[in-house]
Amino acid sequence: MTRKPRTRLAHLGRNPARDQGLVNTPVGRASTVVFPTLAELRAATARPQEGVFYGRFGTHNRHDLEAAVADLDGADGAVAVPSGLAACVLAILSQVRNGDDVLVSDNVYWPTRKSCDDLLQRLGVTVRYFDPAIGGDIAQLIQANTRLIYLESPGSVTFEVSDVPAICRAAQAAGCVTALDNTWATSLGFDAIGHGVDLVVHAATKYLVGHSDAMLGVVSGSGAALQRVRDGSMQLGHSVSPDDCALALRGLRTLAVRLDQHTRSALRVCEWLSEQPEVQDILFPPWPADAGHALWSRDFAGGCGLMAIRLTALDEQQLAAFVDGFELFALGYSWGGYESLILPTDPRPLRSASPWTQPGQLIRLHIGLEAVEDLLEDLAAGFQRLRLVL
Ligand SMILES: *Cc1c(COP(=O)(O)O)cnc(C)c1O
Repeated sequence: MTRKPRTRLAHLGRNPARDQGLVNTPVGRASTVVFPTLAELRAATARPQEGVFYGRFGTHNRHDLEAAVADLDGADGAVAVPSGLAACVLAILSQVRNGDDVLVSDNVYWPTRKSCDDLLQRLGVTVRYFDPAIGGDIAQLIQANTRLIYLESPGSVTFEVSDVPAICRAAQAAGCVTALDNTWATSLGFDAIGHGVDLVVHAATKYLVGHSDAMLGVVSGSGAALQRVRDGSMQLGHSVSPDDCALALRGLRTLAVRLDQHTRSALRVCEWLSEQPEVQDILFPPWPADAGHALWSRDFAGGCGLMAIRLTALDEQQLAAFVDGFELFALGYSWGGYESLILPTDPRPLRSASPWTQPGQLIRLHIGLEAVEDLLEDLAAGFQRLRLVL
């Protein structure tokens, strides 16, 4: 019987019978591991996804995290890597060779785009970007040498929702691998593999770790594509800290309740923002007025706390007057922790296939786990500051 994800979150990735009854997998730091006999050394190396025989190949902490994420994604396996970006790049790099072509969604996380434009091009892999709204028309872009289609939905700056099933059907028909950065929704909010994706990429740094204190990435998948990911990670010499894996496993325990609360509070914030005359647009797929809401409702099971608003154009002084005075919304990169964050963004230089033509200033908000009334009060004070300088 397959139990509900939130039930599995409480039980996955730990093994008290193996660990002297300890509820949580104890942190095992390791480089060298020694064996009493040759037979035991051989047995450990024969099961690289569970065996512990050298630190770089993983300890119980890493194997438990990988097994938990693979289970949540409905994948055969997962590979933990040192950062979210390492996961994005590994998912792509491991699948391609010189002469191949890769199609990448135009709203992709900016450092992923940078790696594609520099690293992949230097290896003789062509990279072409497509409009995230392309849907099944992606079939027209697929060439004989197109090996991989890389998606991010919703984009973490501009929040477009792609028609992932339509894109995956076209990819499958053409024999291309698909990979999707699922950081925004996590395994709980979007069943990527169930919607046709081959490789799921997680910046675990965000909601899986969930407490803004560890950097980690995971790629999950099955079959030959997963094997290439495993081999690629090994050949690149990736190693992840057992402490960080333990933090990610701890984060997973509360992922469902955190995401529920983030989403609830973010929707309440949307309601309030929709009444502010300075707000031109709210970019948050769970919000009914969002352009991607219909697709989101069709394909997603949940949301999170990351959204953006579009204000009128602001000069640097007006922008500073707005963002500098918040007491709860801290100014900073990243998201997915328990705290609220604010960040001005500018997607215009980050796009090529589908230019960002919306006027005005985008502000990204991460709605944290604080009481939403307090967040609204902080936002109200910010809009008061803004009105004084407009
Ligand atoms: C943050 C982020 C990443 C990269 O994760 P790091 O752990 O910071 O390397 C990748 N994709 C998305 C969508 C992100 O938001």
